[in-house]
Parts: sequence; C-alpha cells; structure tokens
Amino acid sequence: MEQYPAQELDDALKMVRMLLPWPHECLACYVCRMLAHGCSGLKWSKAYRDLRAPRATAMERKFPELGGTCDCEVMANVFHPNEALWEHDQHGDLDGTCAPSCLTVRLGTIQPCGLWLMRGGIQWGGGVYRGARKVS
Ligand SMILES: [Zn+2]
Ligand SMILES: [Zn+2]
Repeated sequence: MEQYPAQELDDALKMVRMLLPWPHECLACYVCRMLAHGCSGLKWSKAYRDLRAPRATAMERKFPELGGTCDCEVMANVFHPNEALWEHDQHGDLDGTCAPSCLTVRLGTIQPCGLWLMRGGIQWGGGVYRGARKVS
C-alpha cells in the first residue's frame, strides 16, 4: 500500500487547519482571514456556522438582507471594524491588512468579538437572529 510521507501529510493537515476557525475565533475574524483565499458566495460564513454555530440557521437569510450576499460583502456591510482596537498606518488610516488577533467569543454564536461592530439596529440573541429593528 502506498503511503504519504509523514512530512507531506503534516503539511497537508496544516493547510486544512488554516482553513478552519480557531477555537473561539469569531465569525468576523474568521471570514476576514479566509477572504485571503477568495470569496465565493457565503462559503466561509457558512463553513463557520456549520462548524461553530449550527443553530444560527437564519444567517443565510439575514446576511443578504443586511447587504452581505457573499463573504466580502458581509465584511463590508454587516461587520465594521471597531477602529479604536485596530492598527493604524502612519497616515492614520485603518490598516486592514493586519487584523489584531480575535478577542474570542463563546461557542455557538455568530456574533463578532469586540474587534467588530455590527451594523446598527440588529439584535442577536443566543446566536439566533431576532430581526432588525427599524432605526427611526
Ligand atoms: Zn464577495
Ligand atoms: Zn474576532
């Protein structure tokens, strides 16, 4: 029987691990990290949900409602960096290329950690989306 050299297996596993959310990494930090591998629909958001918050089934419906029909739009429209906690370059601009490491969240939620702000008027409870209030 052919066997993969141990080193090759090790490298392959490392690659796979890179594509999974870290323990307690939040959805926003994860998707932000994964966008380096390209955007195709809500692939990364769904991967996170399936792995970490399988009960957050309203996500596919709610993210597009908030302007996030794919992962990069989720990062553009649903989550906003909480700028105070991010690095700024010498021009005072947000350095989006080096995200601070995730402040972590409990398992089972698709809420972001403190590095991110949700778009206003959204209520989340127990990882389940409860519907946006009209902001008047
Ligand atoms: Zn996209
Ligand atoms: Zn995070």
